[in-house]
Amino acid sequence: MQKSIILKTLVHGGEVSLAVIDSTAAVQEAMRRHKFSAVAAAAFGRTLTACVYLCSWLKGEGCSLAVTVNGGGPGGKICAAGDSELRMRGFVGEPQLELPPRADGKLDVGGFTGRDGTLTVVSDDGTGVPFTGTSDLVSGEIAEDFSAYFLTSEQRPTAIALGVKVKERILGAGGVFLQPLPGAGEEAISYCEKEIAKFREISSLIGERGAEGVLRMLTDEPFDRREFSFRCHCSRKRAAGAVLSLGKEDAFALIREEGKISVHCHYCNRDYIFEREDVVRLFGEEA
Ligand SMILES: [Zn+2]
Repeated sequence: MQKSIILKTLVHGGEVSLAVIDSTAAVQEAMRRHKFSAVAAAAFGRTLTACVYLCSWLKGEGCSLAVTVNGGGPGGKICAAGDSELRMRGFVGEPQLELPPRADGKLDVGGFTGRDGTLTVVSDDGTGVPFTGTSDLVSGEIAEDFSAYFLTSEQRPTAIALGVKVKERILGAGGVFLQPLPGAGEEAISYCEKEIAKFREISSLIGERGAEGVLRMLTDEPFDRREFSFRCHCSRKRAAGAVLSLGKEDAFALIREEGKISVHCHYCNRDYIFEREDVVRLFGEEA
């Protein structure tokens, strides 16, 4: 399978940062793990793609970032997280909920997400002191909501196209970000607003042309290329830590009541099962 990639370069005389993201493979992996409905895959895929963009600006090892879209819709909260290595993960409140399509035949992402709430970004630059930025949702369709976030929280007007095309599997997922550099004039902002219109059908464009083909719609310049994937950093060892934190007495009580202890990772929908012999290995024999 093709890798998920983010391409970045400067356009418009070096005044505007352009990023093109092909997240098809990562969203497909998320869909497989979480058994997403089509509309959940679209809502999550758009959020994940924007999260990749935010993570691509993180500097240095140990930096991480988490996005939560909490719109009060029937789909529940949408969470995506990643780090400076672009290891991405996340989940949706109601991953299997399907909604009827909108009147224009498109997936009803806004209806799934809801629009009465906030978009929150929590970033940790490695110092352990998190920075939180929040903005009100605009439409729940995700792209406009992130545009509002960049404007209100970072004072940076940003033109964004996000899309996920899904038919049992992900046919194309990705995004385009056009962001004037600090100090760029009004004219650069108009350029971004005008050019973003070319990418309204971004999921189809990514599926047909790939990320490089999409980038070539705006520039012939060289570009930076980074790969990313949907890859959780949970492990059996970490899950064992959760079992240890129960304490010996409660752990054995659970074994007696349930026969096993199950530690669930929300981010990748994986269960780690600990049986009596595993618990004995962690704590020693039951007294
Ligand atoms: Zn996990």
